[in-house]
Amino acid sequence: MELKIGWLYPNLMSTYGDRGNVICLSRRCGWREIEVTTIPLDRETEAEAFNHVDIIVGGGAQDRQQEIVMRDLKGAKADALRHKIEAGTPGVFTCGSPQLLGHYYEPALGQRIEGLGLLDLVSKHPGPDAPRCIGNVVFELTASPLAEEVKSILGTNPVVIGFENHGGRTYLNTAQPLGKVIIGSGNNGEDGMEGAFYHHAIATYSHGPLLPKNPFLADWLIKTALQQKYQRSISLTKLDDSLVVAARAAMFKRLNVTNLLKY
Ligand code: GLN
Repeated sequence: MELKIGWLYPNLMSTYGDRGNVICLSRRCGWREIEVTTIPLDRETEAEAFNHVDIIVGGGAQDRQQEIVMRDLKGAKADALRHKIEAGTPGVFTCGSPQLLGHYYEPALGQRIEGLGLLDLVSKHPGPDAPRCIGNVVFELTASPLAEEVKSILGTNPVVIGFENHGGRTYLNTAQPLGKVIIGSGNNGEDGMEGAFYHHAIATYSHGPLLPKNPFLADWLIKTALQQKYQRSISLTKLDDSLVVAARAAMFKRLNVTNLLKY
């Protein structure tokens, strides 16, 4: 079997290390002898290229780079990305990416950046003097059916560990939250929600990068992509995650939430 990872604007939206999500997906496929190709979806890419990817990864960026991306991600390219996500292509979109998948992002300075309107949410930066949301973030996965499907793999309610660094605050309208904040700001530091979930798209403020710290999400993306592509039920070979389990335990201890230590 093989998978193609579409990586959104790698030269513009990799400010916060989210390339680690691409590396994690590639490794966890390679360890299972699933052939992986990573395709940059950037300013040089034609809209048609979006049609051939099986998983989409979008990272974080500064306001300026987000504005450059949205000058390019419009017309046929925007339609192609919308179509993929509406058709259930799995993806993980971090921070600056989901801000652009919503209706708009109002940056710290300058004009409102119109988004794709795919996720029913808006994002607003409170201004250059406002404190950024920076630090470790821990949240319980609540989005349906993602949480149930991950729980069926883990055998327990999944808790996600990440690291946030954003000025923009996101407010969900009808978009389903990805999770419930335990530690950190999450979407806006006010409503206790983190991220969003739509079809098979995971939107989150969690850098880290997210997937190496929470490999059950990487495996959910891989399994979902393979099932979409090959139109049959897929079960993934279990990998030795003892190292990440130990790293998560260390983080839960450091953050004084060892009671959450279920996985
Ligand atoms: N520039 C956006 C903000 O400050 C996104 C930041 C990010 O992607 N980490 O909210």
